[in-house]
Amino acid sequence: MKSSFKLAGVIIFMFFLASCSTGRRSAEFTLEGVQPSPLVCPADPRTFADAVPIPDFQEGNGCGITHGYRVMALDSIAFSEPAQITCAEANSLNVWVQSSVQKAAHEIYGQPVVGLKVAASYACRARNNVRGAKLSEHGHGNAIDIASFTLADGREIVVLTGYYGNAQDQRFLRTIRAQACGIFHTVLGPGSDSYHRDHIHLDMQTLRRRGGVYCH
Ligand SMILES: [Zn+2]
Repeated sequence: MKSSFKLAGVIIFMFFLASCSTGRRSAEFTLEGVQPSPLVCPADPRTFADAVPIPDFQEGNGCGITHGYRVMALDSIAFSEPAQITCAEANSLNVWVQSSVQKAAHEIYGQPVVGLKVAASYACRARNNVRGAKLSEHGHGNAIDIASFTLADGREIVVLTGYYGNAQDQRFLRTIRAQACGIFHTVLGPGSDSYHRDHIHLDMQTLRRRGGVYCH
């Protein structure tokens, strides 16, 4: 009697293990509807940034970078960590920094931005880290997440607190986010959803049907 109980226990335990491992094997993300990365490259990032090319690589699961660069700094803005991004993404970042970020910083704070906190760049993962969701543009190195901006006087404008913080920080963060729309094809941030409350997400996803950008 006792041994049959034991056996039943072992069988249940094995079944439990099997269902667990099945769970682990399920896809982390789906490639359904994911467009290939656009290969436009208006200018070599080495002409405007502290950057080195990354040899093309594919991880065999849909992730990888084609025509990528490791960007350490842009203009006089040092990155908290090197960003692994596509040439297209680096170009848009440069246009945005020059035409929006530095202009707004001078207007609002009377000084330039000298640092930028990179929360994420290339990352082989699903959108919003949600299992089973579409592969993120981060999986193509086609996106960057920015958590904060550091001014010349050392002040840090943090997206999480500044977006609903004092009037200056609100104006700065809201201005540069609004102006990023169109330079980038997807712009997300605080208020978009719970995943973007502490950073601004900027990506160069292949333009949606009818050339639409998504800024939410
Ligand atoms: Zn992101």
